[in-house]
Amino acid sequence: MKLRIGIDDTDSKKGMCTTYLGAVLRDRLRSFAKVLELRLVRLNPNIPWKTRGNGAVALTVETGDYDRAVSETLEVVEDLAALDVEGTNPGVVIAKGDVPSELTSFYYNALHGVVTIEDAAALAEKHGCELHMFKEGRGIIGGLAAIGADLTDHTYEVIAYRTPEYWGRPRHVDPSSVYEMDRATRPATYNNVDPETGRILVTPRSPCPVLYGIRGTDREVLIRAMKMIRAGEPVERWALYKTNQGTDAHLKPCAIEEIEPYSSVIIRGVVSEAPRVIEGGHVIFSIAEGGCSVDCAAYEPTGGFREVVKRLCPGDVVRAYGGVTKENKTVNLEKLEVLDVKELFKLKNPVCPKCGKTMKSAGKGQGFRCRGCGTKAEAKEPVQIERDLKPGLYCVPERAMRHLSRPVVRI
Ligand code: ATP
Repeated sequence: MKLRIGIDDTDSKKGMCTTYLGAVLRDRLRSFAKVLELRLVRLNPNIPWKTRGNGAVALTVETGDYDRAVSETLEVVEDLAALDVEGTNPGVVIAKGDVPSELTSFYYNALHGVVTIEDAAALAEKHGCELHMFKEGRGIIGGLAAIGADLTDHTYEVIAYRTPEYWGRPRHVDPSSVYEMDRATRPATYNNVDPETGRILVTPRSPCPVLYGIRGTDREVLIRAMKMIRAGEPVERWALYKTNQGTDAHLKPCAIEEIEPYSSVIIRGVVSEAPRVIEGGHVIFSIAEGGCSVDCAAYEPTGGFREVVKRLCPGDVVRAYGGVTKENKTVNLEKLEVLDVKELFKLKNPVCPKCGKTMKSAGKGQGFRCRGCGTKAEAKEPVQIERDLKPGLYCVPERAMRHLSRPVVRI
């Protein structure tokens, strides 16, 4: 019998990681079941309840022992989930057989919008899924969505985990081994290093059990990449997850007037207010279309991307990609496509057609006169200003990229 086990909301800012729990569960299930797939599904990156990257996991298992699969799952959650931390509300969903299309629709709702625990519970019940809610049980949302996720477009992440005695201690991963791995495996792996700062991106900064995670498009290359990493501590276990990371699945085209809070949008518009730098180094500008306008922000962590944004001028046509977190609907830019750079002109004193010198004013209301040959002209001339911005797609640097954002190598 084919089972799908979806789990979410087991970690806290102080530790644990739902993917680690998934890897431990895989190893427990392996003794009596065949584990067919591990999936790591990122959901709406703008919701306020997330710990970090709003990730849920699902395991697809072939087994004849349903009850044991359930009891092993619950044991692992009870043992490992950060149940004593406020705000950690684990949920487990177990579904039998094929995935009903309504679960896939639920995944899209959880990816693009905000859904409720009641929505998840009602849908799970309708399709005969078994639910286990710990504390408030919010994790059933992610668990159900991970089971339903459409991974037609997908990437992979191989994650190496630390042994418990190292959790919370500084990570010792040899940076030169990461640079070497990056050079040897790109573009089948990506976002290993931030080119702007040289920062290693495979190691997280949180006290979670992850030692490093490498993202990529090819399972074999990822395993080879993992073997290239030199770490100053043991790897307890590793897992290769199939994931919606790096696919832009969260972004949805919409009109400016349709933007909803907590959504991730692709909007087209004309720059209506020039970029301005606000406190903290964030750059804000507005775009408008059809009588509606919205602020777009390139926040300080987006580094050099802000320099592109600063070059925008009113009248430029852009497509903005990003998440909306607050009621005021500012779009937090992930990418910017410059579609049309407006030609700009400034008025300058005319140049004498005979001797090539710049003419001077001939007095108030008298036009212009060449001091060399006396040639006259009536008015200033428009001269095109050279724009330092080219049409094209601009992305935030790797270190500021969201898990779901399609990396440059996949565009
Ligand atoms: P990590 O990435 O480290 O695993 P996290 O960022 O995934 O942590 P969680 O602890 O899983 O954070 O918390 C996210 C919570 O929000 C989960 O309970 C999940 O079920 C729920 N959730 C996910 N998507 C939505 C959504 N669209 N609407 C409402 N709740 C959601």
